[in-house]
Amino acid sequence: MQYAFFVDFDGTITLEDTCDMLLKRYGNPRLWEINEQWENKEISTKQCITNCLAEMKLTPEDIQQVVREAVIDPHFKNFLAMTQEQGYPVYIVSDGYAQIIQGVLAREHLQVPYYANELHYDDHYSVAFPHFAKECGRCGTCKTRLIQQLVKPGEHRVYLGDGTSDFCAAAGCDTIFARGKLAQYCQAHQIPYRNFQSFQEVLLWWEAL
Ligand SMILES: [Mg+2]
Ligand SMILES: [Zn+2]
Repeated sequence: MQYAFFVDFDGTITLEDTCDMLLKRYGNPRLWEINEQWENKEISTKQCITNCLAEMKLTPEDIQQVVREAVIDPHFKNFLAMTQEQGYPVYIVSDGYAQIIQGVLAREHLQVPYYANELHYDDHYSVAFPHFAKECGRCGTCKTRLIQQLVKPGEHRVYLGDGTSDFCAAAGCDTIFARGKLAQYCQAHQIPYRNFQSFQEVLLWWEAL
């Protein structure tokens, strides 16, 4: 069987959500409320990010700080080694920020293709959504459409995620590893999934196949 892995970044590869790390440092109660509305799917990623960026007044140094401090899953590298050995593609699909993903991957000397929202700095940060899907309208980076574009015929799609931005995309995949809100969602909708705490469980699953 040929497997393809679609992996969320924040709270899945990193132990803590880097968008939450930014909010904790530079946010305010109003922005947490906006974030909560996004979590509840009441507003789109575009609305959420645009509001947050306007008020947080981030500098490139603030972003670098988060890049330095974001801790990754201790078994992620072993997982990548296995997929490389087997020739299975891995894609990071994220409704967070490409610059943070790129920075963390570079820090860890890892090369993985990633798809996310793009930050641009020019005395303040603005954001672009190169993977926005009109027919969806809600995600900044529509993981559902990305998977449709990236998957090759016959590939068994494995999804790993933890949050609300994973609901739709995960439900369309063949095997789901979930924790946090994604696990709750799968449970509530009777979607079969595997609970995972770290990438070690993905390795154990694969070894047992
Ligand atoms: Mg996440
Ligand atoms: Zn979408």
